[in-house]
Amino acid sequence: MKWEVVIGLETHAQLSTVSKIFSGASTAFGAEPNTQACGVDIALPGVLPVLNTGAVERAIRFGLAVGARINSPSIFARKNYFYPDLPKGYQISQYEKPVVEGGSITIQVGDAEKTVRLTRAHLEEDAGKSLHEDFHGCTGIDLNRAGTPLLEIVSEPDMRSAEEAVAYAKALHALVRWIDVCDGNMQEGSFRCDANVSVRPAGAKEFGTRREIKNLNSFRFLQQAIEYEVRWQIGELEDGRAIQQATVLFDPDTGETRMMRTKEDAHDYRYFPDPDLLPLEVTADRIAAVRAAMPALPAARREQFCAQFGLTPYDAGLLTASRELADYFSAAAAGADARTGKLCANWISGALSARLNEEGLEISQSRVTAAQLRGLVDRIADGTISGKMAKDVFDGMWAGEGDADAIIAAKGLKQISDSSEIEKIVDQVLADNARQVADFRAGKEKAFNSLVGQVMKATRGKANPQQVNDILRGKLGG
Ligand code: ADP
Ligand code: MG
Repeated sequence: MKWEVVIGLETHAQLSTVSKIFSGASTAFGAEPNTQACGVDIALPGVLPVLNTGAVERAIRFGLAVGARINSPSIFARKNYFYPDLPKGYQISQYEKPVVEGGSITIQVGDAEKTVRLTRAHLEEDAGKSLHEDFHGCTGIDLNRAGTPLLEIVSEPDMRSAEEAVAYAKALHALVRWIDVCDGNMQEGSFRCDANVSVRPAGAKEFGTRREIKNLNSFRFLQQAIEYEVRWQIGELEDGRAIQQATVLFDPDTGETRMMRTKEDAHDYRYFPDPDLLPLEVTADRIAAVRAAMPALPAARREQFCAQFGLTPYDAGLLTASRELADYFSAAAAGADARTGKLCANWISGALSARLNEEGLEISQSRVTAAQLRGLVDRIADGTISGKMAKDVFDGMWAGEGDADAIIAAKGLKQISDSSEIEKIVDQVLADNARQVADFRAGKEKAFNSLVGQVMKATRGKANPQQVNDILRGKLGG
C-alpha cells in the first residue's frame, strides 16, 4: 500500500519587543532566574495586563508580509490549564478571533514552487520554564520567560513530506527575520515548531489521525522527528493498529518520538474572552502606517535580481536568504551590467559564503566590503586578472591587505592581455616543442593542452587563458 504524508506546522515566533506583552518587564535572554518577572508575570492578586503596542505592530507587519487579513477587533482569550510554570492558571492567547487570518508562504522544493496556506497567526504570552536539573528531586521554576510575546503561526495541513515541512519552516524563519519581528534564535527558543503529522492511503479523501510533535527547535530535529513519526505511523497502520490522537516529544538522542499525553481538545481549555483586556481594534490608518514602513520583501527582491541581472531563480534565492545578504549584493552590483552583476552573485554565493561559513561569521561581519568585492569583480570583468588570480586577490582582501587594485599592483598579478606579447611567447613555445606540434597535427588533442600549459608556464600563469587558446588555435590552424 502507498501512503501519503500530511503535515501542518504550528510555529511560535518570539516577538522582538524589549518588554513583555502585558507588562514592562524585560524580555532579554539569559538573566538570573526570576529577576525579570514582575507582579503581572507572577500573577499577584489585583494586577492588570496592559497590551504592548510593539507586539501588535509586529503581528500586523507579519500579516501584511504574508498577504493575510488583519482582523479588527480581535479578541484575547484565556486558555485555562494547570502547570507550575503558569502562575495565573491560564495563558492569555487569542482563540476565536486572531489578529491575523489567512495568507500564505511560498516554498521552493527542488525545482518546484509550492504555496503553503496559513490558517492564522495569533498573539499570546509564553509560559515560564520548569528546571528539572540541579534541584535534587525537586523542580525549579523560572518565570523570566512568562509573559514574553509570541506570535503563533498556524499552517494549513498542506505539506506532504519532511522536506516540504523543513522548506516551509526555513522560509518562515527567513521571513520573520527579514521583517524584523523575531530574532530567529533557535537555540534560545525564539523560533520553535510543533509538527502535526498524519498519514493516509494514497488517493484517500479524508485525513488520517494526527499526532503532534512538540517544540522542535532545529531544522534537523524537525526533519528527523517527522521522518521517524511517519515510519512509526505507517508501521502501526500496517500492523492493523489505529493511530490515537496524541501529543508526542522528540528525543534527539534516540531519534524517536514518544507519547507525552493524549491530546486534549479545545473544550478542555475552557477558552473564554479575557475580561481584563479590551477587544483589540486596529484602524486602517495604523495598518497603512505599518505597510508604509515595510521593507521590500524577499520575493520582490528576487524578481528584481532576476530581471536586472538575468540571475536564475535559484541564484536569486541564495542571495535573498536574509535581508543583509540581499543588501550586500545590491550594494556590490549597484549600477552594474548583467555580466558584472552575475559575477558579483557568483562571488558572494561562492568564495565569500564559503569564507563566512568557515569562520562562523554573518554577512554583516564580512571582512570584505561590498565595494571591495565589486572592485575585484570589475578587474575580472575588464580582463585585468583571471579567475584564478582573483582567488588570490580575494584572499588578500580577506586578510586585510587592501583593495583589489592595491593587491594586484603589490603582487604583480596583472594578466597579460596584450596579444602581440602573447603571440611572441606562443611562437617561442611552438619553436621549442616541435614534437607536440607534430602530435597535435596528427590528431592528438591532448598535445594542444600541453602547449597551452607551456605558454601559461612561460608567463607564470599571467597570460589571459582565452587569448592563449585563440592565438594557439590560429597558429596551429586547428
Ligand atoms: P490544535 O490547536 O488543537 O493543535 P488545530 O486544528 O488548530 O489543532 O490544528 C493544528 C495544526 O494541525 C494545523 O497546523 C493543522 O494544519 C494541522 N492538522 C490538522 N489536521 C491534521 C491532520 N490530519 N494531519 C496533519 N496535520 C493536521
Ligand atoms: Mg496544537
